[in-house]
Amino acid sequence: MAGSATINVPALNKQLNVPTGLFINNQFVPSSDSQDLIRVVNPATEQVLCSVVAASPKDIDIAVAAARQAFKTTWGKNVTGFERSKLLHKLADLIERDAQELAELESLNNGKPVRIARDFDIGDSVQCLRYYAGWADKIIGQSLEVDNQTKLAFTRHDPIGVCGQIIPWNYPIMMWAWKVAPALAVGCTIVMKPSELTPLTALKLSELVKEAGFPPGVVNTVPSYGPVGGAALSSHPDVDKIAFTGSTVTGRKIMEAAAKSNLKKVSLELGGKSPHLVFESADLEQAANWAAMGILYNSGQDCTAGSRVYVQDSIYDKFLDILISKVKAQTFGDGFDNTVGGGPLVSKGQYERVWNYIQSGKQEGATVILGGKERSEQGYFIHPTIFTDIRPDMKIVREEIFGPVLSVGRFSTEKDAISLANDTTYGLGAGIHSNDANQCMRVSSALEAGTVWVNQYNLLYNNVPFGGKKQSGIGRELGSYALDEYTSVKAVHWNFGEKLDWPL
Ligand code: ADP
Repeated sequence: MAGSATINVPALNKQLNVPTGLFINNQFVPSSDSQDLIRVVNPATEQVLCSVVAASPKDIDIAVAAARQAFKTTWGKNVTGFERSKLLHKLADLIERDAQELAELESLNNGKPVRIARDFDIGDSVQCLRYYAGWADKIIGQSLEVDNQTKLAFTRHDPIGVCGQIIPWNYPIMMWAWKVAPALAVGCTIVMKPSELTPLTALKLSELVKEAGFPPGVVNTVPSYGPVGGAALSSHPDVDKIAFTGSTVTGRKIMEAAAKSNLKKVSLELGGKSPHLVFESADLEQAANWAAMGILYNSGQDCTAGSRVYVQDSIYDKFLDILISKVKAQTFGDGFDNTVGGGPLVSKGQYERVWNYIQSGKQEGATVILGGKERSEQGYFIHPTIFTDIRPDMKIVREEIFGPVLSVGRFSTEKDAISLANDTTYGLGAGIHSNDANQCMRVSSALEAGTVWVNQYNLLYNNVPFGGKKQSGIGRELGSYALDEYTSVKAVHWNFGEKLDWPL
């Protein structure tokens, strides 16, 4: 048996037992051949919370074999949609039951406020599981007329098989739910690799998977370092599909590994450099609220972070003043303080990365109109920073920063606005703020992004698809679209009368 760590969850004032082994076949086990550990750090205090087992490539083989065995025997086509639905509902109920302790654990490991983890990340995850529980008995194909006298064809949407799922650290529970729910709904089995920065809630959720009654091997959890366990999973010859959320750099490696191994199917939800366009007819107060939320939510560690805001000349000065006041109004601090709206960045590495971007913005000649200074206290906190006087070639304008760092530019015509917005290799999200309905329709059509928000930003719903254009990704999560990512369509041709004359 593998060990566990005792972690104090302060708001509940309770000692929580967190498993620290690998979850394979519904058991927590040590590594089969490695002593490697992952040190898990609280980003608000910089203190080590505990260490968990880091899966080796051999452990990945064992987890994949467990998932394959379950797929062939107790899951896959061996269970009805009703049964899958029942188990997903049960899992949702258990997460709801444990929402407070999961939220505290998420906050300790990731830094985000407990309130936000509980009411948004976990609330949304519970809904996501229930949404896909609803789909589990509604996986339908088509019946196709070929020849009424002798033949028809029909399609079956088979579960694709064993899925490797590699998730990031910015929304550890929510990304888990987005991946697990549709895969289980259609009958796939899973080897889940959480980020090495935030493995704790995925391990805790694994206990709930077992408690809900999922058969052994249906969901396996293997914390590991990306280049070790993540690479082993993406190049594994017996994994049928990889679903990944993370950086574009890593997405490229995963696609390459998939191509070089067994051409497994790949869905990628990658980075972004998403623009907001603020037109002169917009409600400026509201546009500023959404734009502030766009860059500050999750301390900017968000793939759809609205990190470029372009404002029409005629309202530029007025809007900028409002925007600055909105950004200043957001407070950042320890996630256990119920009054804060945001926490620290997730890690020292991420802190340094974001700070280097702030330095580069200054060096390249952009003007800092807010923030831009280092915070001295403990924890990986970054002051929200706004740059103006930007140029399209600056690193802060071109590259994903993944922190609370905003570039603000200006435009004069709608055509300019569209071309500035689309001047990026990414295409994840985009926001339009305008009270001219025709303009909203024209611009939303012209924007090259998987999601366009009109007079709002960043809100996602489980029944609406999400994903990227250009280098922001391949495939769609959420909605009925995600079911396609986990199914393989089989066409069955049926002959009930045609005789074959032979030879031809
Ligand atoms: P970041 O650089 O922001 O940490 P990543 O895209 O590297 O984001 O991380 C997202 C997930 O990808 C994590 O679970 C990480 O372990 C995993 N990962 C990192 N490198 C690789 C790799 N070479 N192959 C597969 N997965 C990887």
